Parts: sequence; C-alpha cells; structure tokens
Amino acid sequence: MRLGLNEPRDFIVHLPIRYEDETQIVAIGSLHPGQTGQVEGEVLHCEVQFRPRRQLFALIQDDTGQLALRWLNFYPSQQKQLAVGKRVRVRGEVRGGFAGPEMVHPRVMVAGSQLPEALTPVYPTTDGLPQATLRRAIDKALDEADLSDTLTAGVLEQYELIPFAQAIRVLHHPPPDVSLEDLIERGHPAWRRIKFDELLAQQLALAMARAARLKQRARPLTGEKSRLVEQFQASLPFTLTAAQARVVAEVSHDLRRPFPMHRLLQGDVGSGKTIVAALAAAQAIASGFQVGIMAPTEILAEQHFQKLVGWLEPLGVQATWLTGSLSAKARKMAIERIASGQAQLVVGTQALIQDKVDFANLGLIILDEQHRFGVGQRLQLSRKGEAEPDAAQSGSQGFIPHQLNMSATPIPRTLAMTFFADLDVSVIDELPPGRSPVLTKLVAEARREEVLAHVMTEVRSGRQAYWVCPLVEDSEALQLQTAVDTHARLAQALPDMRVGLIHGRLKPVEKTQIMDAFRAGQVDVLVATTVIEVGVDVPNASLMIIEHAERFGLAQLHQLRGRVGRGSAKSVCVLMYQTPLSQVARQRLRAMYETSDGFEIARRDLQQRGPGEFLGVRQSGVELLRFASLETDALLVDQAQSLARDLLAHFPEQAHAHLQRWMRGKQDFLRS
Ligand code: ADP
Ligand code: MG
Repeated sequence: MRLGLNEPRDFIVHLPIRYEDETQIVAIGSLHPGQTGQVEGEVLHCEVQFRPRRQLFALIQDDTGQLALRWLNFYPSQQKQLAVGKRVRVRGEVRGGFAGPEMVHPRVMVAGSQLPEALTPVYPTTDGLPQATLRRAIDKALDEADLSDTLTAGVLEQYELIPFAQAIRVLHHPPPDVSLEDLIERGHPAWRRIKFDELLAQQLALAMARAARLKQRARPLTGEKSRLVEQFQASLPFTLTAAQARVVAEVSHDLRRPFPMHRLLQGDVGSGKTIVAALAAAQAIASGFQVGIMAPTEILAEQHFQKLVGWLEPLGVQATWLTGSLSAKARKMAIERIASGQAQLVVGTQALIQDKVDFANLGLIILDEQHRFGVGQRLQLSRKGEAEPDAAQSGSQGFIPHQLNMSATPIPRTLAMTFFADLDVSVIDELPPGRSPVLTKLVAEARREEVLAHVMTEVRSGRQAYWVCPLVEDSEALQLQTAVDTHARLAQALPDMRVGLIHGRLKPVEKTQIMDAFRAGQVDVLVATTVIEVGVDVPNASLMIIEHAERFGLAQLHQLRGRVGRGSAKSVCVLMYQTPLSQVARQRLRAMYETSDGFEIARRDLQQRGPGEFLGVRQSGVELLRFASLETDALLVDQAQSLARDLLAHFPEQAHAHLQRWMRGKQDFLRS
C-alpha cells in the first residue's frame, strides 16, 4: 500500500502524528470556533437542504445551547442516525456559523457509549484509508510483531533510554496519565527513545554505506605526475591559494586510490572551486580516463566549457559539450564521441545523465553546485559509470567512477552528520588574494533614482553591473514580462549605456552571445533573471542590484551577491526592497546586511527553512527524519553516532537487527 506498510514490523513504527482527546464530553454552550469538541445532544431537526447546494443539515441541543451540523456528502443511513428525538454524540471542529456554532462533517456516534480513558492516536494516512482501519491494523500488529529490543540493557542505561516495547506501546496507546503536551511536543521519554532509534538507524546506514564504498572498486587515477598535469600547473593563470593547494592535494590523493572517491568540496562563492575541478580532471584524463562535469544551468555549463577548453585544449585535451538544447545532429555526434572515448572531457547539464549517454571509460564525475541537483539525479549520475550495475553491487566486476561534488552552500554540522557522513569534505576557507568584501546596502524602492545614479558612476569608471529582476512566483510568463519591462525602463533611464538582457526563455545561442558580450565588456548593465544565480563569473562586474530582494530566499541572495566581488575592484550589492516587509523577509535582509560568511548564512537559512528545503530533497519525496528534529535533538545525533560506531565494531548483529526495524528500503537514498 502507499504508506509503505506491509508487514507487522512496518505497522508498529507507523506512529501517530497527533492525539485527540476523546475522553470528555463538553457542554455545547462552552464550544468556541477553532476548537475540536465532543458533545452530546438531542436531534431537534434534520433535513436535506438544497441551498446554497445540496447538503444534510441537522440541529442538536443540550442544556446549554444548540449546535448546527452539516454534511456536503452524505449517505441515506446518516439521515436515519439523525432522526429527530435521538440522542447522539458528535465530534468535530467548531466553526462560527450564521446562527451560532456549527460543525462541518462531524463524526456521529450513539450517545451514552463508554468514553475512552486515554488519548486517541491519529495516524498519518492516505485518502480512503480510515483511521479506524489503520488503528485496528496497528493493534493487530502490536500483538504479532516482534517488539524485542535491538539495544542491550547496558546501552539503555548508558543513554537513559526506555525499552522499545514500552515506548511503542505508550505512543500507540497512551496511558490516561500521560500529558497531551508531552506527547505532542515529543518530549516524552517514549518519543526520546524513538527519536534515538531513528537517528541510530541513520548513523548505522551511513557507516555501512561508507564501508560498502570502501569495498567497491574504482580505477586508480595515477596521472598526477604526467606531462599534462605538470604543463597545466605551469600554465595556471594565477597562483593557487594555500587552501586551494591543500584541497587539490586531497583530491589528487583520493583519485589515486582503488575505491571511489566521494568528496564534497565546499568553498564560499568566489573561493575558486573551478580550478580545483580542472586539476582533478587533468589528472583523470592523464590517467587515460574520461571526465564528466555537470552543472545545473546551461549558462554555467557553457562558462565551464569555455574555461576548461581554454585551459586544457592547448595541452591536447579533446572536449565535448552536451546539453538538452543541442540540435539532434550535434547531439548525436556528441554522444558518439562520448561513447567512443574520443571525448576526454565532457561538460554539460542534466543531459549528461540521460540513458542514451554511455561513456567509454568514465573515471571521474564532477558535479558543480551539487545542492541544485535532486537526490535522484545525483544517484543516477553515480550509477553512470557502473557498466554492469549488478556486478558493481556484488563488487566483482564493475568499476565505479570517482565523484567530486562542489558546493558553495556549506552544510551545518548536525546536518552533515545526519545526511552526509559518507562524504569526505574538503573546504576552501580562503578567498583569492586582493578581494575586498562586498559592501551590502539595503535601499527602499522609493530611492530608485539614487540607485540609478550609482549605476551610472560605476559604469563611467569602467565597471559593469548586474540588475536582477524581481521573482514572480509561479508564473514564468509574468517573470519574463517583468524582465523585458525592466530592461526597457533601464535602457531608457540610462541612455548612454549598453544595457543587455538575459533570461531563461532566450535561445541557448542568444544566451551565449549576451554572456560573451558581457564578459567581453561590450555590455555595461546586464538585466537578468535568476538564470545568473549560480556560478557565473565575470570579475569586472562590481555592482549587483537586486530588485524586490524581499522575495528571494537567503541562499539565493547569497549566491546572487557572489556574482560580484570576484575581482580586485571594490564591489557593492544593493538590495532594493518594497515596504511593508514581512517578519521573515526582514530577517533575511538583515542577515544579508550583517554577514557575508556563507556558513553563517547557511545556518540562518536552515533555521528559517528546515533541512528538507535546505538540502533540496523535499521534492524527491524522501522523508529525511520522521521523528527527530535536527534543531532540538542535536545531542541525540552525537550519541547515536558514537553508539553506531560502537555497534558496528563490536555487535554487528545488533546493528543489523536495528536497521531491519528502521531502515528497510531507504539505504539507497543515503548513497547519493
Ligand atoms: P567559485 O568557487 O565560486 O566557483 P570560481 O572558480 O568561479 O569560484 O573562481 C572565482 C574567480 O576567482 C574566477 O575569476 C577565478 O579565475 C578566480 N580565481 C580562482 N582562484 C584564484 C587564485 N588563486 N588567485 C586569483 N584568482 C583566482
Ligand atoms: Mg563555481
């Protein structure tokens, strides 16, 4: 079934999302709108009404008042249940109606039956599966399933945990004395045990994924001393920063090993990740293998392609470009070059992970702005190199490519521990020399003229500017219109400047042309949608204007701001906003003003949006954590991690039993 419940052991860990208090009958006179209430009364009136639409209407009363009941869908049997004069018990959410309180679609029972003594659990369910059925199934499972503990008494004592069976029983059938608040806020020891178990399972799965990876085979890429790499190093356009050099050495070391690298390269916007990728690519190519580099947008892929070709083609490397917008013929050629191995370096977008693309001998894949890709896409990519997936699983034949993921979005510690434990992390914690921090200004929309004046001054002194158009949610057409309008207005307001426009609807050639012109300094002001959000690198651009900054997310603003401050010129980012500002928008703008540190921004972003949005996995439908919360349960994460290591080292069968209970079918997600 759709909830993924098949066996008793699945049902027992299907825990309530909330509880209802059905232990009391209250007076109708005491009901207030918004409250869920349970009352008993006598039916005064019952009829099918036809206005404003067909509905069943009933009125009941007790000593304190009257309550209207309405059903828009109903069965004839319900009318019988509500025959005038009958006493009924009804339960539902109270609304304020025309003539006093009413309930829409309340639950109706016979009055006077015994009241439950304890809180009633409410389970997550899907359409068409009634709570009562689910409850019965769970109760049956509680009788049948194995509730034995996966942890020893010693462990329970050490971590102050209650037994599993007890925790499960309390949550499915809270005893009368348990407080609703403890259950809802998940502060009850029963919840603590469940949260711990969940986190432990996750830590175990991550540790096992890592162990499994160390057993997989990859081609050792030992070309780091080759002529290609040495020539490339000698021809670098700049000296690497110490941080870049350190990270290059880490990656180079990983690549030489016979199991797949799985490394995340974190470096704030502008810290210089591309060159690290290029050096890794050179090492792989020099070792006789292909390299695939994937970027989330066509503009970024194009930019990478140009840069890498500029660096590596003079040294004899054959590069190919592959995106969704290639003509059928060009695409066919690219795919052939990739399949024959003639293309040593392949740069592209999502198009790289399509089924039709087969590499002759893929040795390394590099994912830029990895957080922009969904979990599913990341998985697909890591499977590309597995010529025979089954063989690869069993570790006998298949070779897995090394993988380098790059991101400017740093992952806060708890999050990294919970979701990326099988990832080695390298950090570029230093910006190239000569950069001065971007000055951020918050400017109300009303001061637009001043902003325009600023743009003029900047352009007159030989610099360039980006002008980012407001986001229009949910309407691509409107978004486009806004960009076109903004461009027209700016072109008029800045008559002696060359104002360009780039947006997602342009043809790829047009995008390339305008980006090339901007890069070459032939466009002074580039009006853009968020297509330029990630990765775009034009060092001479020193001014960034973001209109309606209050509509953008924090990570997005940080990325956009990162488009400037990439050269030695002093850069400014103007966040224009329209009042009144919502609380959240105000917080975001303040954060942008207060800090330019990507880690701090990420921390605040996580606080505001929660981990699912933050990691970009919400759309994938994979739930991250069902019970634990990274904000409030950080301590449990630490404890779970240390116990996981201990169990795997000394009590593998316990670890296995625990995973069986909690993680069936989810391991794959953790590989991405
Ligand atoms: P990001 O980490 O945001 O991907 P890029 O790789 O695009 O950053 O680099 C940003 C800019 O800094 C580029 O113009 C690049 O050429 C330049 N750059 C990178 N490393 C250095 C360095 N060590 N010294 C000087 N400039 C550098
Ligand atoms: Mg980049």
